[in-house]
Amino acid sequence: MTDQLTEVIPHVIDAKLTVGGTSRHGDVFDPVSGKVARQVALADAADVDAAVSSALSASAEWGASSLSSRTQILFGWRRLMAEQVDELAAIVSAEHGKVFSDAQGEVRRGLDVLDFATGIAHHLKGEHSEQVSKGIDAWSMRQPLGVVAGITPFNFPVMVPMWMAPIAIACGNAFVLKPSDRDPSASVRLAELAYEAGLPPGVLTVLQGDKEAVDQLLVHPDIAAISFVGSTPVARHVYETGTANGKRVQALGGAKNHMVVLPDADLDVAADSAVSAAYGSAGERCMAISVVVAVGDTGVQDRLVQAIANAGRAVVVGPGSEPSSSMGPLVTGAHRDRVSGHVDGAEAAGANVVVDGRGYVPAGHGGGFWLGPTLLDHVRPEMECYREEIFGPVLCVVRVPDFEAAIALVNANPYGNGTAVFTADGFVAREYARRVQVGMVGINVPIPVPMAYYSFGGWKDSLFGDLHVHGADGVRFYTRAKAVSSRWPQQSSGLELGFPTHH
Ligand code: NAD
Repeated sequence: MTDQLTEVIPHVIDAKLTVGGTSRHGDVFDPVSGKVARQVALADAADVDAAVSSALSASAEWGASSLSSRTQILFGWRRLMAEQVDELAAIVSAEHGKVFSDAQGEVRRGLDVLDFATGIAHHLKGEHSEQVSKGIDAWSMRQPLGVVAGITPFNFPVMVPMWMAPIAIACGNAFVLKPSDRDPSASVRLAELAYEAGLPPGVLTVLQGDKEAVDQLLVHPDIAAISFVGSTPVARHVYETGTANGKRVQALGGAKNHMVVLPDADLDVAADSAVSAAYGSAGERCMAISVVVAVGDTGVQDRLVQAIANAGRAVVVGPGSEPSSSMGPLVTGAHRDRVSGHVDGAEAAGANVVVDGRGYVPAGHGGGFWLGPTLLDHVRPEMECYREEIFGPVLCVVRVPDFEAAIALVNANPYGNGTAVFTADGFVAREYARRVQVGMVGINVPIPVPMAYYSFGGWKDSLFGDLHVHGADGVRFYTRAKAVSSRWPQQSSGLELGFPTHH
């Protein structure tokens, strides 16, 4: 590929940058200035067809390629991406707004999945049983699905595509990525690096777009499976429409992650952890802590809220590119206003606004999508700020008297993505991990994102489908199993019309 990125952020179809035939474009903002920085192509039905047909042409040969040749390309992609961590992080920070060090961390977590995918020869080993009946052997194998699509959210424009693409491709599929239209540039760079590493044209497609592109992918006859990560209403729509059209679908949705702090926990450690996990990336993480459940009497609850407030006030809000900033702006003005509206609603409903980030603007950066860290105390479960996913730097504190009330609160919540318990008591921590109805649990770990060789996924309204992403579930999702029974008879054993048995 030779072209540089143009003012219109393109698709990558057949290993070439193209803006396609569409006349629809979307705005991509600089969240620090609040101005439109560039535009992105928004695919129409013809663009979707062109993308899928290129992927389909590539998929047969790629699916039949040797495991070692795939592995060599993955190693090359990994090397190039590792050399470009800072470049990728700068792209992420410029369009998403998160601080540069956080963006570097996201790119490294994406690289972890590539590490895992380079072991594909091991992950795809089948089973073999000799002599399951006289003269008959049996084995199983896993084969690629063909063309699979990934639809990803704005909040991790490198890491979430990398949860999917390396494993889908390593398993022998052609992968069509539909990134978020709010920060679409990083995907283009990821694809360029894959092609530089020798990936055959069409094996990784980037299709820029919005709902129109997604809805075409959901019904496209040549798409075998869809991985989705985003908000719960869209996840539900993707799951229902994709499965109704005969596709395998895993659709990860939104979250409301509770951090339960027991009275025996080190309250300062818990407060620092809560602040880091609530305000990192401006709260725009699906594993962000959005609710602290303060367990115990009023004295211990007050001390915890005070420690969180003190740590929250120390967060430095500013442009993601400035090393002094620990939190950047939100992704768009519309999103910032929505988050800020939740704080207004919570105040009106009787929550206590202990730290108020509304109206905060770092000096010299008027116009950006700013909102300072915000802490709401005395939040009750019926309030909208508790029921809805806010997805911004707003931390709610719900006070409960004891462990049983805490676990009942968390289990009654419709989401089940991540949770954490902070305590010095191993027995209670074990009970929490065992009884809580949430997919990912941290014990004195506020953001328990599993490593690439485990699988990532929530329960309840945080995931529709059966298999989680990456790790062993990722390999299962992007392949289907076949069981083979084999006999090489020396002579005919005559007619046998009965049902075969193992004797
Ligand atoms: P979103 O649901 O608005 O968008 C996700 C993707 O769906 C994007 O590619 C978008 O273009 C597309 N899309 C948006 N609206 C659509 C519609 N009506 N029909 C079809 N497609 C549509 O999510 P977002 O705002 O980009 O990301 C934030 C959300 O993602 C939060 O809810 C967050 O919790 C969630 N998230 C979840 C996880 C997880 O692992 N569970 C991880 C990251 C983000």
